[in-house]
This record gives sequence, structure tokens and C-alpha cells, in this order.
Amino acid sequence: MTENLNLFTSTQDVIKEALDKLGYDEGMYELLKEPLRMVEVRIPIRMDDGKVKVFTGFRGQHSDAVGPTKGGVRFHPEVTFEEVKALSMWMTLKAGIVDLPYGGGKGAIICDPREMSMGELERLSRGYVRALSQIMGPAKDIPAPDVFTNAQIMAWMMDEYSKIDEFNSPGFITGKPIVLGGSQGRDRATAEGVTIIIEEAAKRRGIDMKGARIVIQGFGNAGSFLSKFLHDAGAKVIGISDAYGALHDPEGLDIDYLLDRRDSFGTVTTLFENTISNKELLELDCDILVPAAIANQITAENAHDIKAKIVVEAANGPTTAEGTRILTDRGILLVPDVLASAGGVTVSYFEWVQNNMGYYWSEEEVREKMTAKMVEAFENVYNVAKTRNIDMRLAAYMIGVRKTAEASRFRGWA
Ligand code: NAD
Repeated sequence: MTENLNLFTSTQDVIKEALDKLGYDEGMYELLKEPLRMVEVRIPIRMDDGKVKVFTGFRGQHSDAVGPTKGGVRFHPEVTFEEVKALSMWMTLKAGIVDLPYGGGKGAIICDPREMSMGELERLSRGYVRALSQIMGPAKDIPAPDVFTNAQIMAWMMDEYSKIDEFNSPGFITGKPIVLGGSQGRDRATAEGVTIIIEEAAKRRGIDMKGARIVIQGFGNAGSFLSKFLHDAGAKVIGISDAYGALHDPEGLDIDYLLDRRDSFGTVTTLFENTISNKELLELDCDILVPAAIANQITAENAHDIKAKIVVEAANGPTTAEGTRILTDRGILLVPDVLASAGGVTVSYFEWVQNNMGYYWSEEEVREKMTAKMVEAFENVYNVAKTRNIDMRLAAYMIGVRKTAEASRFRGWA
């Protein structure tokens, strides 16, 4: 039998299993198996050469039973309608796991920002907001940064919405520059959240973070910040990789040097001759393996060869269902993406709360509040997995979907 590598259908499978375990009937799965709303828009943009190019954009809103929907906007040449569906469902799960008053949302534009000028990117960002402003807003659906989008793009989007709304609306979007109402600590929140989760997982397996041997796949936004935090916490980062290859040093890599040399797309291995492959990297002897690059990296094919004691998914969907089963059977602690990478949406929520109050917190306050949420979320998921004797992914889905299912039942939607 060939493995299911489709992120959308494999997410549906785990949601179904989680709802079954929680005692919900088929009707609840029927409601939650797809987003409530998926919108496709076409955005005409005047390019620098004077011609008009029409871009396709998407916005998915999985469920607003609990509260407004929330999730990033991705700019990518290969992003698809179905991928946005799956990503919006994951956001519902993440919000549920860290207990935020949100449902899941996600957006995207098919484009390659690496080949666009700043002026073209600004017009496209503003065009996306104009096309979708009727279904978005601080109390409806709140976007944020994602792959290839950043604080500048959030600023343009917020400004465009504020013009339409005829009111300064910082709560429309999160991940903004600090001067426009961004939160302290938002840019590093995902990696900080993953670091907290790694520390919690290490405690459960009796691994001391001082000297722990770590391997990280991916050296982009998530992977690079993460390598720095773990290095600073005294761990030994013995392997990192990018799309072109991987570096390995059993004594620990010089992370500050690598951070200094990496380019803005997370590439650094091309500067070295002694590289290994990404496949070899995943199978290195280490204490903790952190896939922080792309999906479907740990599968039925290589799960038997993983030597780490703990795998923490910083990327979305790096382990297949079969990979999850094999790692779990082998006693490897697998911490799922929907829990491990929830630090970003947690601090996005804090940003929105600060915008709504008009009162702003210090970096220390943000970190303290985020740490409390992440530690509690880890404990909840770990305990459900233990008491029910299930893997942490299924436990995380059970916790993640429960609030939305409950709210939907009260509203009479299922
Ligand atoms: P990024 O684009 O900044 O970096 C991606 C890294 O992966 C780069 O180093 C790239 O070279 C590497 N890579 C690309 N293709 C590869 C391949 N075939 N094999 C090995 N490495 C490869 O992306 P990011 O923001 O760091 O995101 C990485 C993952 O983390 C994604 O799955 C993303 O969805 C997830 N994530 C990121 C955030 C965030 O805030 N940045 C939040 C939640 C989840």
C-alpha cells in the first residue's frame, strides 16, 4: 500500500479519529472536515513594466464557532486551494491546544515574492485586502505573517484595511512592526515556543538540555532562530540543513558563524564542501531531532532509521501517519506540529489583545505569558496521550478540536 502524503486528507483522518474518541457522531465530522468558508479571488495588479497581471488569492475560514478566525497569509508560487484548506484546519487545532478564543483561518496568494519589486509587493498586498475586506476584520478574521510574508507586508495590509474601514485598525492583522502596534517578541515567538516545548519534552525523557545533541532540518526563519536559542541554552547543535544539503559536526556546529553567513532564504550549506544529504541528517545519532523545513520528511521509508530519542515537529506536517506510528511503536517521543509551533499564534493573540486594549506589554511580560501557555499545553497533551495510551498527535487533535466541537454543538450547528 502506498503512503498517504496528502496533508489535507491525512489531517481529516486524524480529526475523524479525535472526534470518535471524544464521542462525537458523524454529523460533527461532517461539519469540521472542511473549512466553513473558502474564497478564491483574482487580484489585478499593475506591474512595474506597465502591464497588468492577475494574481489568484485564497482565504480559508475553517470555523468561527469559538471566535474570529485567525491565521497567516502565505505568498508562494506553488500554494494551492487544498493546502489552504488544510492549513486553516491546523489553525483551529493550534488555537484549541493553546486555548485561544479563535477558530482557524489561513490565506495565500500564488506569486513569487523573490521576483517582485517592493512596489509590486505593496500593490499586491493592498489588493488582497481590498478583495477580501468584506469577510475579514478585527472581529471576523485576523491575518498574520506566514511563508514569504513579513512585518512590512502586514503594515501595508493594515493600512489598506484602515482606509477601507475609515478608522485606524491595528487589530486587523498581527505580526506588524512595533510602531504600528506590533507585539514585543512576535518575530521570535514560533522558535521560542518550539524551544519551550523541546525543554518540556527533554524533561519527560530525562535529557539534560546542557550538552543535549540536537539536529535541526531547515535553517530558515524557524530553524535558524531555534538553533540560536538551543545553542544559547547550552545544547550542542550537531547538525543543520537547508534545501541543498546538511552540515554535521559531532562536537557541535559554530551556530553564530552559520547565522552570520546564511542568506535571507535560509541557505548556508553551499558555502561548505564537507556536506551530507538531508536523508543522512535525519538519521544522525542524536538526542533530539527537529524537522523545521518541509512536509513528509519522516515516512514509512526512514522512520525505522531515526536514532533520536525525541522528535519535535517545528515544520508543518513533516511526519506521515505511518511515520508517526513507527516512531511511536519504537518508543520515540513525537511532539506534533500543532502543539510545537503554536507559539506564533499565541503571541499573535497577545498582539491582538494589546491592540484591542490600547495598552502594551514588555518583552518580559509577553515571554512569561507565552511560556505559561506553552507549558500548560504540553502538559495537557502529554497527559492525555499517557492516560489514553495514544500518540501525542492524536492527543493534540483531541484537545485542539474539542472547544470548536463543543461550541458548534451549543450553537446547534451539528
Ligand atoms: P523558511 O522558508 O524561512 O525556511 C525553510 C528552510 O527549509 C530553509 O533553510 C530551506 O533551505 C529549507 N528547505 C527547503 N526545502 C528543503 C528541502 N527539500 N530539504 C531540506 N530543507 C529544505 O521557512 P520557515 O518560516 O522557517 O518555516 C519552516 C517550517 O516551519 C514550515 O513548515 C512552516 O510552515 C513551519 N512554521 C513556521 C512558522 C514561522 O513563524 N516561521 C510558524 C509555524 C510553522
